[in-house]
Formats: sequence, C-alpha cells, structure tokens
Amino acid sequence: MEQTFLMIKPDAVRRGLIGRIISRLESKGFHMVAGKFIVLPEDLVEKHYQEHEGRPYYQDLISFMTSGPVFAMVWEGDDIVNLARLMMGPTDPEKAAPGTIRGDFATRMNRNVIHGSDSLKSAEREIRLFFSEDELV
Ligand code: ATP
Ligand code: MG
Repeated sequence: MEQTFLMIKPDAVRRGLIGRIISRLESKGFHMVAGKFIVLPEDLVEKHYQEHEGRPYYQDLISFMTSGPVFAMVWEGDDIVNLARLMMGPTDPEKAAPGTIRGDFATRMNRNVIHGSDSLKSAEREIRLFFSEDELV
C-alpha cells in the first residue's frame, strides 16, 4: 500500500487543528500508521527542506518550522501521495480553494498548516528521515 509523509506544522499545532486535519484524512479512507510530536532540531528541518536552501524565504521557513512542536505522521492509502496533496491544496493559501486544508485553515504562504511529500520518492526519503522502522505499525 502506498505511504506518504505528512506533517502538521507549528502554526496548526498551536491553533489546535490536529484533530480536524486527521479527521479529514480518515474520512477520505486513509490510515495513519505512525505519528509523533517533535520539536524539530534545526539539522533535521534543513535536511527536510534542503532543496530550498538559498531561497529568500529559507531562513524564515527554518525558524518557523523550529518555533514549536510539529505533529509528524506516516499515512497509508490508495494513491495517497497525490490525493493528500490535492486535499492540502496549493502551497499558497491564497490559491487554495475552500474545501482544501490550506484553503480552509490558512491565509499565508509561510504559515500554511501542513506539509505533504510531493512524490513517491520524496515520501520514501522523508519517512526514513523522520521515523525509524520500529515506529511504523
Ligand atoms: P511543503 O513542502 O511544506 O509541503 P509545498 O510542497 O506545497 O510545501 P514547497 O515548494 O515545497 O511547497 O515549499 C516548501 C515551503 O516553503 C512551503 O510550504 C512554504 O511555507 C515555503 N515557501 C515556498 N515558496 C515560498 C515563497 N515563495 N514565499 C514564502 N514561502 C515559501
Ligand atoms: Mg514541498
């Protein structure tokens, strides 16, 4: 079964949105197979977002992502990499339609509530980066 890595970002954890986000994914028919709170060490976020290094928003992204706990998860389901991204909506909440997670819960690009892997290859990489084998049920 296909798996993806999803992460509820510090803004959404602070705002108490974990339950509602999980509920949407469960209603779709997906299953969470691992989940944990982490205050991300800087080196882990830097690895996670390594392709963005040097971009103008990079420093803000790193400090935002380390500003409080995230809720990191592995989810499983049919075509989940693609479908979870559709449920999240585009990176910029201004472009995210109502009904999507970012469309309903976010207003700003740099506080956009949730991360989801953008391909099968990133999903595998990110799952390995955040979870050990024995944490996956
Ligand atoms: P994520 O990887 O967090 O799921 P994404 O895949 O939709 O988001 P990416 O292009 O991977 O988008 O960008 C990673 C994160 O960097 C975005 O979620 C956003 O917070 C931030 N970001 C990307 N582009 C910009 C930008 N132009 N201005 C401000 N922040 C940006
Ligand atoms: Mg991305």
